[in-house]
Amino acid sequence: LVRGLEELRDKPCKTLDGHRMPLYVNTGLITDVVRSLNHGAEGIGLYRTEVPFMINERFPSEQEQRAYYREQLEAFAPADVTMRTLDIGGDKALSYFPIVEENPFLGWRGIRVTLDHPEIFLVQIRAMIKASEGLDNLRIMLPMVSNVSEIEEAQHLIYRAWHEVRGEGYKLAMPQVGVMIEIPAAVYQIREIASRVDFISVGSNDLTQYLLAVDRNNPRVASLYHSYHPAVLEALCQVAQDCHDVGKPVSICGELAGDPGGAILLMAMGYDALSMNAANLPKIKSIIRGVDLEMARQLLAEVLTMDSPHVIRSCVELRLRNLG
Ligand code: PEP
Ligand code: MG
Repeated sequence: LVRGLEELRDKPCKTLDGHRMPLYVNTGLITDVVRSLNHGAEGIGLYRTEVPFMINERFPSEQEQRAYYREQLEAFAPADVTMRTLDIGGDKALSYFPIVEENPFLGWRGIRVTLDHPEIFLVQIRAMIKASEGLDNLRIMLPMVSNVSEIEEAQHLIYRAWHEVRGEGYKLAMPQVGVMIEIPAAVYQIREIASRVDFISVGSNDLTQYLLAVDRNNPRVASLYHSYHPAVLEALCQVAQDCHDVGKPVSICGELAGDPGGAILLMAMGYDALSMNAANLPKIKSIIRGVDLEMARQLLAEVLTMDSPHVIRSCVELRLRNLG
């Protein structure tokens, strides 16, 4: 098994008809990084910065954050490392910063929290920027964006942090800044959003939850959480197409990217990169290496005419099974 993994690691992620599909990894701890290097990731598509915050008993200092971030950036340099700014609230709690709400998934989450606490945001951005000194492979990504003014406000703060750090003598280029698409409103505003940032990444876990109004962690409604729901697929297609129309790269970092059928459909939709947990990476690479882009496009066209998530899933699974 290990030999098989090693062989696959060094092979390109390319379809039979020559289409390149870069695979990135989602990380939180440094152990995820080690595993993903073994599995052949081409960079980090989502570093969940809340993970180091969650294992601490207080807010980590700028210095401490810088050390966490440096590890991630160094492991993959010169490849891109996309760091998401603190995404707490909803299902992600910090013991030392309790948020009590009746409706946490519709409440104070992600960018909403950090824009209300610029002092937390600025320390984090400064730490990220300083950590990237000499590597220049940092990309900053904003979670849970629901309107354009949140982006403008965050960009303003990022610019301020960058300016301050430069003033302290660091010589760094301004990092690329991107936005996660996780809220239906952002799908309808995708052109306005994409034209303001350097890249887009779809958080399909939250996007599915909000499109279908199904709590992603509630077992009682788990059977309604359909990643292959026609409305979800339609939204994903729209995002890919509109990003390309305005000339911006678009990737995906939700669980769907690590699902074999999902990866094939996303590739057919035109996603430029897939980011997933390290454990799924070899499987997805080997599936992509065994299909034609043309076949994936036909499959996508077929499933877009269907109206049942169950039928879509069966159709995709059958096609993959026939490929062996
Ligand atoms: C997502 O929502 O798809 C995502 C990648 O973010 P998280 O799972 O951390 O909410
Ligand atoms: Mg999310």
